[in-house]
Amino acid sequence: MHELVLLPGGDVRWQEAPTPQIQGPAEALVRPLAVACCDLDVAVAQGRAPLPPPYRLGHEGVAEVIEVGEDVVSVAPGDTVIVPFQISCGSCRACRRGHTESCQSVPERAMYGLGPIAGFDGGGFMSDVVRVPYADAMLVAQPAGLDPASLASASDNVPDAWRCIGPYEQELAALAETDRRVLVMGGLSIGLYAVGIATALGARVDYVDTDPSRCEIAGGFGAHVTEGPSMADGTDPYPVVVNTSANADKLRSALALTWPGGVCTDTGIYYGNDVELPLLAMYGRGLRFVTGRVASRAVLPDVLSLVATGRFDPGLVTTQRVAWEDAEAAWPNMTAKTVYVRV
Ligand SMILES: [Zn+2]
Ligand SMILES: [Zn+2]
Repeated sequence: MHELVLLPGGDVRWQEAPTPQIQGPAEALVRPLAVACCDLDVAVAQGRAPLPPPYRLGHEGVAEVIEVGEDVVSVAPGDTVIVPFQISCGSCRACRRGHTESCQSVPERAMYGLGPIAGFDGGGFMSDVVRVPYADAMLVAQPAGLDPASLASASDNVPDAWRCIGPYEQELAALAETDRRVLVMGGLSIGLYAVGIATALGARVDYVDTDPSRCEIAGGFGAHVTEGPSMADGTDPYPVVVNTSANADKLRSALALTWPGGVCTDTGIYYGNDVELPLLAMYGRGLRFVTGRVASRAVLPDVLSLVATGRFDPGLVTTQRVAWEDAEAAWPNMTAKTVYVRV
């Protein structure tokens, strides 16, 4: 089969590889139909993330089930499914309490398409066949009537945005209407998905970003947009704040704009491990600060329920669709949300 590989020097090539086989009764093989670039893929393509090649690409996608092991009951060949980017068993203690990102049945950070930072590399979704070790636990049927290309990021970046907003829906709803406010500090796609989710859940959203095209998409979701590096001085703080910029100065700004008792979630990866936080100020205002990896499988049903209502269309974040065969040329030049579609 063919798989797309990032090579030393930044070249991207289709390469021939052995076709994965079912290795146990709980497994499935799937054929990716639409694969999106994750924000991390874009960061690597732009030289902003330390993931040394070579490795196999793609970890956000919708796929067709082509073969299942004899114990698999929830999916069958021909089904269209979302494949979470993290590999999880569904039955260990971590999975049972919703921490599918830390499944104890597989090596830490067992993932697809992120070889250099994965404890176990499941292979890339930019390939003809992908092996899913725990098919019943991992695979989620795509809601009927939706376009696979618009859901391709439901493996990772859309759930990542959901966990910044969804858990606080009741908290926001309990506030006075004028206080149901969310601030999103933008950066690539996750911030835009957060905007779409927050507006769909009835919040007034302020979006701040220096990128005009992202500002336009955020505005399309109904956000009030500030095009620039930060909100104006004296901005009223927010109960829910999201920073997707992976920028330490913006993180500090996000924390300063979180009101007493509010929650600030940061989806960024700070590779240097050297970001100082204003802990005294955070203590004084009783802030909740959330970092860490999303549990993509655990939150996926909530994401898909919201998409199925029609109030949130993740497809509006996609900036380009590329034919599957053209991925070699397109992958190294990605600047925003790109979806590769098999035709
Ligand atoms: Zn990712
Ligand atoms: Zn598990």
